[in-house]
Amino acid sequence: MRKFVHTTDVNFINVETKYIFVTGGVASSLGKGIISSSLACLLKARGMRVTIQKFDPYLNIDPGTLNPYEHGECYVTEDGHEADLDLGHYERFTNVHTSKANNVTTGRIYQSVIDKERRGDYLGKTVQIVPHITDEIKRNVKYLGNTGNYDYIITEIGGTVGDIESLPFLEAVRQLRWELGHCSICIHLTYVPYIAAAKELKTKPTQHSVKALQEVGIQPDILILRTEHDISTEMRRKIALFCNVEPDCVIQSKDVNSIYKVPLMMHAQHLDQIVLRKTNMNAEGEPHMEPWLKFIEKMDNAAETVTIGLVGKYVELQDAYKSIDEALFHAATYADHKVNIVYIHSEKIDQSNVAEKLAGMDGVIIAPGFGQRGIEGKFAALKWCRENDIPTFGICLGMQCMVIEFARNVLGLKEANSTEMNPHTKENVIDLMEEQKNISNLGGTMRLGAYDCHLRAGSKAAEAYGSQDIRERHRHRYEFNNDYRSRFEQAGMLCVGENPKAHLVEIVEMPSKRWFIGTQYHPEYSSTVLSPSPIFGSFIKAVIDFHEEKVKQEKLSK
Ligand code: GLN
Repeated sequence: MRKFVHTTDVNFINVETKYIFVTGGVASSLGKGIISSSLACLLKARGMRVTIQKFDPYLNIDPGTLNPYEHGECYVTEDGHEADLDLGHYERFTNVHTSKANNVTTGRIYQSVIDKERRGDYLGKTVQIVPHITDEIKRNVKYLGNTGNYDYIITEIGGTVGDIESLPFLEAVRQLRWELGHCSICIHLTYVPYIAAAKELKTKPTQHSVKALQEVGIQPDILILRTEHDISTEMRRKIALFCNVEPDCVIQSKDVNSIYKVPLMMHAQHLDQIVLRKTNMNAEGEPHMEPWLKFIEKMDNAAETVTIGLVGKYVELQDAYKSIDEALFHAATYADHKVNIVYIHSEKIDQSNVAEKLAGMDGVIIAPGFGQRGIEGKFAALKWCRENDIPTFGICLGMQCMVIEFARNVLGLKEANSTEMNPHTKENVIDLMEEQKNISNLGGTMRLGAYDCHLRAGSKAAEAYGSQDIRERHRHRYEFNNDYRSRFEQAGMLCVGENPKAHLVEIVEMPSKRWFIGTQYHPEYSSTVLSPSPIFGSFIKAVIDFHEEKVKQEKLSK
């Protein structure tokens, strides 16, 4: 039953939750996540309550156990779910927190169905992909909608139409579209290649991909075409005709210089109005995009560039440090600067070349990570940064490395290490948390999600946040060993952030330096366009000051 209420508004408002399915065809990596995020951003700017969820057709329960080489960065939600990096885009574009419910994999669906089968919930029936797996998918798709907290649920189906893995998800979407009627639409994203030799854009792959979708019983309502060149009105008409889509519902997504311009590009082609119209909602008026536009204006007008070296072991991968890249970009943009991130392979740095590798950096980030590989390079980088007073930010493993390097070279504890790298080290300045000692499963068992942190008054960290009580997200097993705390404090590395309940050290800081801070948590996960991370903001300010200082000195010496 559909419910409609009559408001004082001119239109009837449909109060049921609306479901938007986003599928992809032709190729992967077309930016379904960015399109979903952009649409959510526009709907949110129209006062709608929106969330985005991603269904990933792989068998891992979550991406937490995946190597970044497989799947890029692992994103962490407030409630401690290790999630696909697209959830990072969702949060950055909408400023709305996601949760475990926003990212479901085939593995989780099967695990839940198999658990039910073992419990006897299926009452002796044969358990099958249709209807049991598809029902479980549908239940998960509707889970957030049923909370009553959202007007729109955007569901991104990972993978590409035609993959064997995505079939149960598409079958669930087909059934849901049938059940939900006007409360659901499907947006299909495809690619329109440009054949340089013929100087022509080609629509055939799009037609084939829509056909593949129709074969599984799904008719897209809106087509979004990723392209490097403008698609003519005539060509759009042709696509509309072949694909049973209205001509104004064929929208192009041409490459732009920033992902944050995609919402504006979608709005210029009325994507938000079309979605509202097609789901029986009031499509009048304009989205309130002023704060977003201000950000874009700052981005376009930033003239000066600062250079930041990011020392990590996954530097050859585009998406391995996605949230850090974005958090740096948000911070720099608000400080009216461009940021140039130079990725430096931690395995390729040592004492002999560190000065050369880090020369010219206005600031350095020591990246998060796991395991021994590349760790010595991080120590070499940190020693050089500390001795040369370069603004330095250590995140998670980066913070742990700050502690180890300081212990070795300032406290003189030559054997200082983390028990992650050497379980038998005598100087276990970084050690396993008590509650981690008996854990044998690797998946989902770290210290995950948001925890409170109390900051010391007068510290740079407290000044950055403008508050002494914060909450940030974690993803680690090892911790600063409190037995060493007073030795660090006496020698000038202060433990200025602490978990109020467990007394775990969350931030170390050297007040004698320009900016030398390590956070056990990952502040990058909570940085969004409209709510940038304060600690990244403080770091960037120090980076800019240092850059300007160097420019001044250079001028004087000329
Ligand atoms: N490997 C470290 C730990 O488990 C740090 C993890 C990280 O950098 N995310 O504690």
